[in-house]
Parts: sequence; C-alpha cells; structure tokens
Amino acid sequence: MILFWTIYAFIIGLCVGSFLNVVVLRGFTGESIVLSPSHCTKCNHKLAWYDNIPVLSFLLLRGKCRYCNEKISPQYPLVELFTGLIFAGIYYKYSGGLFNWNTLFLWAAASLCIVMTVTDIKEKVIFDIHAYILAVLGLIYNFFNINGENSTKIGIWILGHKITVYQSFIYSILGLIAGFAVLFIITKTAKLITKKDCFGEGDAYILGALGAFFGIVNAIVILLLSIFIWGGLAIPVFIYKWFRAKEYKLLASIILFLIAALLFWAGEMLNIFTSDLFRWFTYLLVAALGLNCCRLLIASVKNGNSATMIPYGPALIFGAFAVVFLL
Ligand SMILES: [Zn+2]
Repeated sequence: MILFWTIYAFIIGLCVGSFLNVVVLRGFTGESIVLSPSHCTKCNHKLAWYDNIPVLSFLLLRGKCRYCNEKISPQYPLVELFTGLIFAGIYYKYSGGLFNWNTLFLWAAASLCIVMTVTDIKEKVIFDIHAYILAVLGLIYNFFNINGENSTKIGIWILGHKITVYQSFIYSILGLIAGFAVLFIITKTAKLITKKDCFGEGDAYILGALGAFFGIVNAIVILLLSIFIWGGLAIPVFIYKWFRAKEYKLLASIILFLIAALLFWAGEMLNIFTSDLFRWFTYLLVAALGLNCCRLLIASVKNGNSATMIPYGPALIFGAFAVVFLL
C-alpha cells in the first residue's frame, strides 16, 4: 500500500515540477504564472493538454515543439523528474502511510528550493521573494512544531508577558538570523578584500530561509555540507582555469599546501611528533603555506583570472536535501 501511495506522490511531484518550470520561466519574463495558458517560447503556439504531460510529452515529441520544431530544453523533463523523485522520497520517509501537514510543508519547501536552484543555475540570480516565502513557511512550520520531533516548550518574556513557545520555533528564529548573518558577513568581507563579487547576496537569503525552516543546528550542518559539495564541483573547474591562465605559481603552492597538510595530519595519526617544539614548527609551516595560497588566490581573483562564478546557492540547497533525507 505504501508503494502505491509513493508512486502517487511521484506523479504529484511530476505535475508540480511541470508547474515549477513555468514559475522559473515566467519569473524572468514577468508573465502571470496562472493566467496565461502554456505556449511555446519560440512560436507562441498554444500547447494542447497532450503536449503538456510531464516527461512523457518531451519523449514523444523527441524534445521538439510540435508546431515549429524548436528544440525544447532538457531542463523541463529533468526538473519534472527530479521533483517527482523528491516528492516520493519525502512522502516515503516522513508520511508513515497518510498525507499529513509535515509532508505538505516539506513538499512546499522542496518546491521553492527547486525553483531557486534552477533560477540560480540558469541566470545566476535568486529572486528574494522565493527566499522570503520559504522563511515565512519555515517560521510557521516551527511555530506549530509540525514535524513533531521535539515538543519541548520554552517560556520567554516579551514586554512583560510570559509566553511559551516550542523550542523548535526558537531554533527557527536563530537559524534565520545566523544563517543570513554568516554568509552576509563572508560575502561583504570577500568583496572588501578582492573588490569583486565572489558570492552573490542571494546565498545569504537562501541560508537564512533554510535556517528558518530547518533550525540553527541543521543550518550549520547544511553550511558545512555545502562547502564540500561546492568544493567538489568548483575546485576541478578552478584548477582547469588556473592551468589555462598559466597560474602555475598558484597551482604549485596549493598542491604544496595540500601535501604539507596531509603529511601533518598523517604525522598526528601515527604519533610522529614526539616533541611539542617539532609539532608547533610543522604546524606553523603548514599555516604559512596556507596563507601564501590565500595571498596568491586573492591576487588571482583581483586580476580576474578566477572570474568563473560557480553559483553557491545550489550547493546550499543540496545540503538541505541531504539533511532532509539522511538525518
Ligand atoms: Zn513552437
């Protein structure tokens, strides 16, 4: 029976994904999301219902418009399929057999996250409104303690009145503030040092909204996960870029730093450092190599040799999906 409902959730996800594509598209064109009927973006021909079936229509039409043969972006079926899988996964993990508020809120949060990911990858911007809605949704979700995991209540004093709220609501507010503040400060500092936009301001809005939804503890986990996710994707790209830009000095110093750090770590593991003086000397050496990397990196960003922007928002959101499914 749970399998039947999970498939049902998958189909709902496919349809919602189809709608999310429209939200992304019309976010850029400013067209009404609900009022104007679906049409081809090239020839404007109105689409029949059988041209609008998630994934299936794309396959049947072999990725081309029925009327003008214009290629349809694979973004459409991919977003539909991804939304379907996420919806099915959330239902399977959290619902316990029946549709409930928890599933609905998580579906709504996932939908907003998917829209922000696609807009960020496509146009390298985030619409603040999507983050605001997610933040408000998160505050409501935690005010009523909808996931029901921790029902501890805490009394707080506001203007001489004592009110009791769920602990999760406090964590939600702290997550909102801390999530926004951390990335806002990093963004401003990076800009101050390199005089270039290294991160978008949208990333601070995303982490703030995720913090409001998942609480401050999970916001920290999401931030740490996102560094690994982003690093895994961005470092190979940057190494390639530096290689092309003939920044051998930077490449060599990074490799040197990584080797030194690895040796230091191995030394700690194998208990090689018998004297504290030796340990501190090695530690300072690694730190100096690291600082040298930072110096060259900042110079490289200033010269515009590392100008590739790899959006950070999607890394944060995939971190959040990891928290939803793995914790
Ligand atoms: Zn067309």
